Amino acid sequence: MAQVWKFFSHEDDYSDMSEEGACARLGRALSIKTVDGPTRDTTDWSTFDELEAHLRASFPLTFGRAAVEHVDHSLMLTISGEDPSLLPALFIAHMDVVPVVEGTEDDWEHDAFSGHVDDTYVWGRGALDMTDQLMGELEATEYALAHDWRFRRTLMLCFGQDEEMAQSGARAMGRLLEERGLRFEYLVDEGDYNIVDTGIYGAPGRFGMRVNLCEKGYADVRLTVRSAGGHSSNPFGGTSLATLSEAIARISRREWPVELIDINRRMLECLAPTITAEPLASLVRGGRAAIDANADAIAREFASRRELYPFVTTTCAPTMIEGGSQQANVMPQDMSATINFRLLPGVTTADVLRAVSEDVAGLPVEVELLNDAANDPSATSRSDGYGFRKLVDVASRYFVDPQTDEPLALIPAIVSGATDASMYERVCDTCMRFSAFVADADEVARGVHGTDERITRRAYLQGIRFFIRLIQETML
Ligand SMILES: [Zn+2]
Repeated sequence: MAQVWKFFSHEDDYSDMSEEGACARLGRALSIKTVDGPTRDTTDWSTFDELEAHLRASFPLTFGRAAVEHVDHSLMLTISGEDPSLLPALFIAHMDVVPVVEGTEDDWEHDAFSGHVDDTYVWGRGALDMTDQLMGELEATEYALAHDWRFRRTLMLCFGQDEEMAQSGARAMGRLLEERGLRFEYLVDEGDYNIVDTGIYGAPGRFGMRVNLCEKGYADVRLTVRSAGGHSSNPFGGTSLATLSEAIARISRREWPVELIDINRRMLECLAPTITAEPLASLVRGGRAAIDANADAIAREFASRRELYPFVTTTCAPTMIEGGSQQANVMPQDMSATINFRLLPGVTTADVLRAVSEDVAGLPVEVELLNDAANDPSATSRSDGYGFRKLVDVASRYFVDPQTDEPLALIPAIVSGATDASMYERVCDTCMRFSAFVADADEVARGVHGTDERITRRAYLQGIRFFIRLIQETML
């Protein structure tokens, strides 16, 4: 049962906003099938034109006022502010959505592209990831313009076309902004949609929202072993499977450094006053100085827990193996395996390739970095400046702990997944992946790319209020 609104406050702000209208516009957007790929050539780009037409019709003041540019199939809007001494702000989103897993179409209570709106929910693929935020950013901008608010700060809105695939749209826009010599005061992108129980960080009974300020890197490494196969009665020199297994075992045994990187120290600094579970409580008592002094012990503690260990080390997950024999008495021929790495900031894809090559030295194994998906870790954004402070101020107004009436903790954090935000890190030192459009825990558990993706109307409206307020607090 939906209940995420127990964390909401000030739902009466901007009461002249039309809930009916906003939900209908979101529903219509969700009915447009802007599905990615699987490749650029197989993407139906006409759906993106259809979505743009819907945006233009829905937000006439915004599109009337903004300079609108197309970068490939991505969209860039600039609403110029009156004070050129203020660095512009950037709201980003992606217009693409992931496909529905084949064979599960009928499992949806309402068709994935129906854009169905009922009394409680707006349904459809993209309702959480992230057509809601795309539309919400525009709803807020339109609201500001409808009320004749004068923008002192320039606002840019950049909407990527392929975040779920190649991120080429955001990459091109980021480069373009860099070429223009622009710098941004802050950027807001999608976060992880949920309110987290901070029990996992040793602060049970409390809740918070993550503001993701950096991303782990990503690398797939393929190992190949060549063999002519043959009858298994003479495996002289070992089979390709034996060699590949040895290689995988060596690579898996490598201990990557365990380290409490800066972002985790900031996270703990934020939570320290509420951390009561030992041994963490003792290690963080005294705030940042204690956290720095006990960093190694804290990192080891994180590393011993399933939900925290990915945040203190580079992870290595052998995931695919191909080419095994179909018969017990026949040796396999060529075999390959793929190993997926998630890189802690400080480790590069080149480091991973070097480490793997070292590990398999002496074995007849070919090593290859699959470049299409390879990404070094992102830069780490700051949390000590204007943008972060303002985001916390505004979020604190709208998201509170119902037990204590205190604002939810806004937790600086690192994420594993790649988002478009990292494509702007050269033009902005405050890239905040934060979603004010929150889902209930059961929605999150089903996965945002799962069946029956939907958002509650109240959560959608609350997200819009967050953006209106952010405009009010930082643009005017
Ligand atoms: Zn997304």
